[in-house]
Amino acid sequence: MQISPKQLELVNEQVGRLVASGNYFGRRLSEAGVTEVRTAADFLALPFSEKQDLRDCYPLGLSAVPESEVVRIHSSSGTTGTPVIIPYTARDVEDWAEQFRRCYEMAGVTAEDRVQITPGYGLWTAGIGFQAGAERLGAMCIPMGPGNTEKQLQFMVDMRSTVLGATSSYALLLAEEIERRGIRDQICLRKGIIGSERWGRRMRERIKGELGIQIYDIYGLTEVYGPGIGISCDAEDGMHYWDDFIYIEIVDPVTGAPVPDGTFGEIVITTLVKEGAPLVRFRTHDISRIIPGACPCGSPFPRLDSIQGRSDDMMKIKGVNVFPRQIEEVLQEFPQLSSEYQIRISHLEGRDTMRIYVETDGTQDFLDLADAVSDEVKRRIGFTPLVKVVELGVLPRSEKKTRRVFDERYE
Ligand SMILES: [Zn+2]
Repeated sequence: MQISPKQLELVNEQVGRLVASGNYFGRRLSEAGVTEVRTAADFLALPFSEKQDLRDCYPLGLSAVPESEVVRIHSSSGTTGTPVIIPYTARDVEDWAEQFRRCYEMAGVTAEDRVQITPGYGLWTAGIGFQAGAERLGAMCIPMGPGNTEKQLQFMVDMRSTVLGATSSYALLLAEEIERRGIRDQICLRKGIIGSERWGRRMRERIKGELGIQIYDIYGLTEVYGPGIGISCDAEDGMHYWDDFIYIEIVDPVTGAPVPDGTFGEIVITTLVKEGAPLVRFRTHDISRIIPGACPCGSPFPRLDSIQGRSDDMMKIKGVNVFPRQIEEVLQEFPQLSSEYQIRISHLEGRDTMRIYVETDGTQDFLDLADAVSDEVKRRIGFTPLVKVVELGVLPRSEKKTRRVFDERYE
């Protein structure tokens, strides 16, 4: 999506502020001789920023304001290495709450609702983001935080919660528990705001079905405010994001070149009005695309498709960039397949080949099914894989994250 004149103006102000502050990125821009950004070409000449840069400024090297203006910090959870600290000014906190308020509004949540918040509080941005947005909207917050399913269900019933804020896995756990206890008729939930995980359509349908609620996907990352910079709408075709707060570009994860709207690539975010820790061209490594055209819901805000995975997961087959999530989505079109699959990429007779192993219950001839899956991949993604159908239970399963993609070209 081309940067607009108004967005350029805001980027220019951000760059000016960064340079004046002399923070980590300000110094980097000065060294590169960048002092202003007037045109789209100027913008594209700005260097990318990476999570590693943020780690390098630990603890507060990212701050672009005097310390007296910082009112809060958050930290992104990394399982390895130095954490990232993001400082927020009072305005940043307010701007984030406003974005999250819009998310609720997009989901049809009102001041009459009672929002049960189950993501974590603390250094993490999730819980407090859900809360600040709901309070700004005027809804009643029930700040449960994670875990303690017994108490969650008690409050859900007694407090007559109407909106659930949760991760997809926790929402599913609650849904199953409600089903198991047979207390669904005591539950008043009507909407779920689900954040921060990749999840498939099947899981979404299960939560929707078991709880009988409307589901909205929320997008965000700690480095850029937190959850709430975008949300899906009733059209269920992508997530609107707030382009007056952030500018999103999609780039080829390998070359860094911008790709046209509609093409999948890596999400790169530039904050437009952030004070505490402005970011310029921050590489998220999340894969998605801009959905071209107007949304049937009528919202003027642009749309990102659902997150297809991480750029590190990208596979290049016969010149086509492919992500496991895309394959997963095709497989989900076939109810006779189980949710297990395995992708193996190899180099055979001078060509890259993808083999997809899937499991079925045996209601359809294996060869017919393999052809149907292969045709669907060709139709939707643009290349023909070799599909092998096996019996239910043949593919390996593990308690932890099952490895599903094997690139044998490099093994
Ligand atoms: Zn929409």
